[in-house]
Amino acid sequence: MLGLMQSQQLLISTLITFADRHHGEAEIVSRRVEGDIHRSNYQQVAARSRQVGNALDRWNLGFGDRVATLAWNGYRHLELYFGVSGSGRVIHTLNPRLHPDQIVWIANHAEDQVLCFDLSFLPIVQAVHSRCTSVRHYIALCDESRLPVDSGIPGLISYEAWIGAESSHYEWPDFEENCASSLCYTSGTTGNPKGVLYSHRSTVLHAFAAALPDSLNVSARDAILPVVPMFHVNAWGLPYAAAMTGAKLVFPGPAMDGKSIYELIELEKVNFAAGVPTVWQMLLSHVQVSRLQFSSLKRTVIGGSACPPAMISAFNDVYGVEVLHAWGMTEMSPLGTVCTLKNKHLALSAQEKLQVRVKQGRALYGVDMKIVDGEGLELPWDGKAFGDLLVKGSWVASEYFKDEGSELLVDGWFRTGDVATIDAEGFMQITDRSKDVIKSGGEWISSIDVENIAMAHPAVAMAACIGVAHPKWGERPIIAVMKKQGADVSREALLAFYEDQSAKWQIPDDVVFVDTMPLGGTGKMQKSKLRELLKDYRLPGTDSGD
Ligand code: AMP
Repeated sequence: MLGLMQSQQLLISTLITFADRHHGEAEIVSRRVEGDIHRSNYQQVAARSRQVGNALDRWNLGFGDRVATLAWNGYRHLELYFGVSGSGRVIHTLNPRLHPDQIVWIANHAEDQVLCFDLSFLPIVQAVHSRCTSVRHYIALCDESRLPVDSGIPGLISYEAWIGAESSHYEWPDFEENCASSLCYTSGTTGNPKGVLYSHRSTVLHAFAAALPDSLNVSARDAILPVVPMFHVNAWGLPYAAAMTGAKLVFPGPAMDGKSIYELIELEKVNFAAGVPTVWQMLLSHVQVSRLQFSSLKRTVIGGSACPPAMISAFNDVYGVEVLHAWGMTEMSPLGTVCTLKNKHLALSAQEKLQVRVKQGRALYGVDMKIVDGEGLELPWDGKAFGDLLVKGSWVASEYFKDEGSELLVDGWFRTGDVATIDAEGFMQITDRSKDVIKSGGEWISSIDVENIAMAHPAVAMAACIGVAHPKWGERPIIAVMKKQGADVSREALLAFYEDQSAKWQIPDDVVFVDTMPLGGTGKMQKSKLRELLKDYRLPGTDSGD
């Protein structure tokens, strides 16, 4: 017997329709490439995204065709999020930080038909367009007066002229909720990038889960600053969760430095911000050096790579900002876990609470997880046993785009490539990417633990721990350190800093100071690059480093 309830498809268009109708005046504020601050609201975003729908129809773009973006976080990008997916096409967010050859490869693999780009990325588009064989239309995200002349890009038009010619009356099409809505490529550990193809259903369910109180706790009373890019996993789904709840959105555009982010937070009374640790490090340095305080910021979600305890403490103890440590990945839309305390933790001391908060957190409803050993046997949830982390759920990828039929899942579970523990309360903690695990004398050393200690030193801006070959122990950890501007620490002082905080055999054998840390397209430290840079490095007292 079936239930007797209406069946409304979970479509992305329903989010913007809802925001328009119930929160039409909630603001969408963007720092633009043009340099100014632009003010809009859900009503305007909804109207303009309907114009996008009409404009795509005029070009007879097929259902499911890909519309690519090379764009910062901003209102036009948001309009494309809703207009492209809502009208039945697939928005493909390209990562402008990738090498042009990779962008070409990805755009061709995705068979993008349209490419919309911010003017900051004009040089990239000029460099790649002749090799992007499927792209039929190029749109510069600007008004007509700023459209570059003699760009060399065939048929280039301005976004404002493109949508300006269209009516804002548009009937969002109704279709099956499992249809594809958006596409994002992940670098993958081996081989070519892999396309993760989200559906309307997975996106809307993910937005519900992201908005829950024990998740990111998003509401109509929030002013949210997603510093996490809209070109990487849909800015962690925040644009959708914000539309679902009517939260104000504040977009940083291209200005990601600490000063610009701080000013935007203060100016727009942002109470909730989301970013990766490397970006938050810049924000913290700015407020520390300039002796500032936050007047509105109350909580921040940090993820993408492990959030060092020192960062959690600095935000919490010095600035009164609660840190929500979160974990996920492109294949998971991305949210898998968020670290929010349970009732029983409330009575704990500050130090004990920190021990919980450094974990990546507990699973959201909709995601299940487990850890397994080398034979695939499930390991206990005791906070000690660590193994390969497997997940499944309503917004976890089942296959990669155009790689259908390859066996991505193991008995329905997706192998994350992370190594983790899970404690009896269900709090998961990542110890490493499986390829970064260090094995020394038969014992595992968590590179994240080693990094977290270095990051607590006041002179350290960034730290990355890698294993190097050792004739006796097999492998030993060393720590590469980038110092804070104007700060100093010696190798000996940093190694001494470890002494009270770490078992002796887990203390790195050496410190290597670097001027810059190799970062990937999404702001994560690239250990593969670091290993390459240090390929001739030899551990003190050994003559072989390989
Ligand atoms: P991506 O798909 O590029 O977003 O990368 C996903 C990977 O980033 C995960 O598999 C983890 O290795 C890593 N990651 C994400 N969040 C965290 C976190 N809070 N702590 C440690 N690693 C993380």
